[in-house]
Amino acid sequence: MAEQAPAAPTTAGGDPLRLMAVHAHPDDESSKGAATTARYAAEGVEVLVVTCTGGERGDILNPSFGEAPGTPEEMAALRRDEMAAAAAALGVRQHWLGFVDSGLPEGDPLPPLPEGCFGLVPLEEAAAPLVELVREFRPHVITTYDPSGGYPHPDHIKCHDVSFEAFAAAGDPERYVVDGGAPAWTPSKLYYNHDFSMNRIRAVHEACVAAGIESPFGEWVERREAREIPEREVTTRIEIAGFTDQRDAALRAHATQIDPAGFFFAIPRDFELEVWPWEEYELAESRVRVDRADGEYETDLFAGLRPGDAA
Ligand SMILES: [Zn+2]
Repeated sequence: MAEQAPAAPTTAGGDPLRLMAVHAHPDDESSKGAATTARYAAEGVEVLVVTCTGGERGDILNPSFGEAPGTPEEMAALRRDEMAAAAAALGVRQHWLGFVDSGLPEGDPLPPLPEGCFGLVPLEEAAAPLVELVREFRPHVITTYDPSGGYPHPDHIKCHDVSFEAFAAAGDPERYVVDGGAPAWTPSKLYYNHDFSMNRIRAVHEACVAAGIESPFGEWVERREAREIPEREVTTRIEIAGFTDQRDAALRAHATQIDPAGFFFAIPRDFELEVWPWEEYELAESRVRVDRADGEYETDLFAGLRPGDAA
């Protein structure tokens, strides 16, 4: 007899738990919070990755990839296939918002952003499709980046802006009114991804040095310390043991972007899990009561929502 699948986890009210992870480009979902999404999907939570842009302006960042596609359309098509493979590896669904990659402006002075790109779309227009998607998917928890983008790419900053706006506005039936659109939905918690915190990078770097493992973070530590980026608060640590294989498979699926011999795979996984067995988050907004003592971490993005949690 076939084994019964475990019942899907629910809220105290019996609603199946839903998690929406909003990202700027295809591949961001695999480098930030990836094992978390795989873990919740395995638990039976409905997980939807949202990708704001098509990644059309990404360069080939993997030296072993071979020849670059000739046109932006070919690049976009390639990245769609990569994204589908990454979502399959994580066991999640994925949705494109359909905006155009702004590219990372470089130079001094910085060049203007290309016309029509995500970074230049006015907030109300840029947030509208995400508000609609929040009303359709009805997530209890949304993850995104902090207001700085976590990394100074215009699309990462815009990703924060539209996520924050959707979290604030999706539950208000007077805002973003669409004829025949889904009814308003109020998500309960909003988190920021913090997988590239200085605390993590320094801890892993120092552990590598102490163990005689070549650290991929040496230059990074120096560069980041020089920029003096203030460290943001981490409130939540999700344990990822058992889910790093899926994360790695998702990363490798982005073959144009991720070098299988590079940075992301430089540290032996067992060692990494000993030093830093979490993905970290900052609880930015919550509409449910969260009981977290100072200096302690939440260990579940759905804390406060599960049966038995205080309402
Ligand atoms: Zn990105």
